[in-house]
Amino acid sequence: MTNTLHATEINPTDQRFCDRKVLITGGGSGVGADMARRFANAGAEVIISGRREEVLVKLADTSDLISHFACDVTSESDIKALFDFAENDGRAADIVIANAGIGGSAPFDKTELELWNQIMAVNLTGPFLTLREGLIRMKAQNIRPGRLIAIASMTAKRAYPYISAYAASKHGVLGMIKSVALEVASKGITVNAVCPGYLDTEMTQNSITNIAEKTGMPPAEAAAKLHDFSPQKRLFSASEVSDLVLFLASDAAAGINGQAVSLDGGETW
Ligand code: NDP
Repeated sequence: MTNTLHATEINPTDQRFCDRKVLITGGGSGVGADMARRFANAGAEVIISGRREEVLVKLADTSDLISHFACDVTSESDIKALFDFAENDGRAADIVIANAGIGGSAPFDKTELELWNQIMAVNLTGPFLTLREGLIRMKAQNIRPGRLIAIASMTAKRAYPYISAYAASKHGVLGMIKSVALEVASKGITVNAVCPGYLDTEMTQNSITNIAEKTGMPPAEAAAKLHDFSPQKRLFSASEVSDLVLFLASDAAAGINGQAVSLDGGETW
């Protein structure tokens, strides 16, 4: 006799993270918003942050499990206030995701110090302040398992012309997490980075507009250039990043620490 079980019969509702609290920076849009929805769907309590309150409110209004706190990841006092907010029931976050980031491009000899500083502040100092505060709180409450995750980029492992500041910031994230991973290895906490190729999000649409404006190329041709970077000739979706992050946040990933996991169709390793 064959007995066919369907996934829904085995696990009618996904409650994998029902006893977990997740904090996501840049959680109002793109990958951050997708991760927030996915963690909430898996039963987690989710705190999202970003600078634009209206964007955060829109997402938080869709689920009782999602709450929001507007803040700037480059500000140490804002980050402390964000973690205080997340801990208002006395419990620290189990999973902290440093996702907020900005793009920006220019030839190296035309890269203004202001652009350099802005990209470093959001993409490198931001994850430093976020993951450091996450670790401080996890250690204070002996949170186990604890998960610290940075959304880096394939440009953390390789580079392209005209993105020296962005590539430097993302390379910096990998150096940071590899060092921290060795510090937390014996504490039931892991720290990892995810390195996606070009994603189908607002940030990439801005890059396409920027390339088209600077080169005079039609936007479709600029988009095709970004597709061509990947051996799979495509952009990657926010949900693919979420799938990977949910796995890294799960108990099954306890042995994965200090890794920079590529999600780019084979462009980097
Ligand atoms: P989005 O632009 O959609 O999201 C970025 C988020 O970061 C926004 O919600 C934004 O919110 C927030 N943010 C930016 N600056 C700050 C700040 N100073 N303080 C707090 N929040 C801030 O982009 P993606 O979803 O595509 O990007 C998410 C991450 O993925 C980034 O780290 C990015 O570098 C990385 N990545 C993106 C790729 C892509 O192709 N798009 C490829 C590989 C990696 P607000 O403006 O309201 O502050």
